[in-house]
Amino acid sequence: MSESPEGPSGGATEAQARMRTSSFRLRVVPLGTSAGRPTLARGASALAVVAEGAWVLCDCGEGAQVAALRAGLSFSRLDAVLITHLHGDHFNGLPGLLGTLGLEGRERPLTVAGPRGIASLLEALARAGSLGIGGLPLLIVELEGEGGRLELPADAAISFGVESRALTHRVPTFGYRVSLRDRPGTLDVEAALAAGVPRGPLLAEVKEGRTVMLPDGRRLEGSKFLGPVRRGPSVAYALDTTPCRAAVELGRGADVLVHESTYEHARAELAHARGHSTGVEAARIALEASAGTLLLTHFSPSVDGERVADEARSIHGRVVAAADQQGLEVTAPDPAPAASSAELRP
Ligand SMILES: [Zn+2]
Repeated sequence: MSESPEGPSGGATEAQARMRTSSFRLRVVPLGTSAGRPTLARGASALAVVAEGAWVLCDCGEGAQVAALRAGLSFSRLDAVLITHLHGDHFNGLPGLLGTLGLEGRERPLTVAGPRGIASLLEALARAGSLGIGGLPLLIVELEGEGGRLELPADAAISFGVESRALTHRVPTFGYRVSLRDRPGTLDVEAALAAGVPRGPLLAEVKEGRTVMLPDGRRLEGSKFLGPVRRGPSVAYALDTTPCRAAVELGRGADVLVHESTYEHARAELAHARGHSTGVEAARIALEASAGTLLLTHFSPSVDGERVADEARSIHGRVVAAADQQGLEVTAPDPAPAASSAELRP
């Protein structure tokens, strides 16, 4: 473990206070960007979406926990593991990760979401003595149908909103969208003071957009002194999948769309036969979805990721070929114009 541990309690109030003061950005850290099997340069599928003080893991291929340690991520701050489907290159690292959390004596619940069948799979491993999770409270969410909003425990839900959507692959598969909660707009302090709101607790209430009663008996609506709501940054994660409508909906307006691009476009037919997409197709999805940045991942060991990204750049203006451990900063645009941004951070 490379960071200071976080107390297991950390109730909602404390987390709420943390959220108000924390930075309003996400960081995406690819932990494994290979398809099918790991290579020396690319691990099996895994990607961390990191906020200040908490993170979620999308897919947990073999080697994901070592990659997370290398990225300096603290397991005590992991809120949820979101498994897209039960193919081994997206799942096989999970038993090992859960065993580590068990050994660490974690008492804070961990949410594990995935398609139907994930609970019985983990139960079978536990029965065989393969998990060793001790008293770790697991909240397993099995997804069915089209997917939808995911309920996280109170303290986790304060940081993250998570939605799922069924994708089109050879087995039941769900993409995810992870967002920071929207925040109230910026307070016009001068206007509030001029309207008679005294500094102190009442001003703090106004800053939250609440209606307050002034000392002279007047009622004031706090929301009138706030700028437009600040939208939380969002990351959509769509793999594995052939090009599909659900990926467009999942990525609609996302600041970063992480989309699989297993093959170069010349092998589109092979990609579809195997339930996958090309980089060019991922770029069409990102364009239609108006996603800010397209982060391509899940590269077959037989392709050059940069070449796949080059092909995609003919369609979408902002394409990044994911590389293990190469993080991106994600911020949402201000309510005023400007584009959303994702900065490469080596
Ligand atoms: Zn798959």
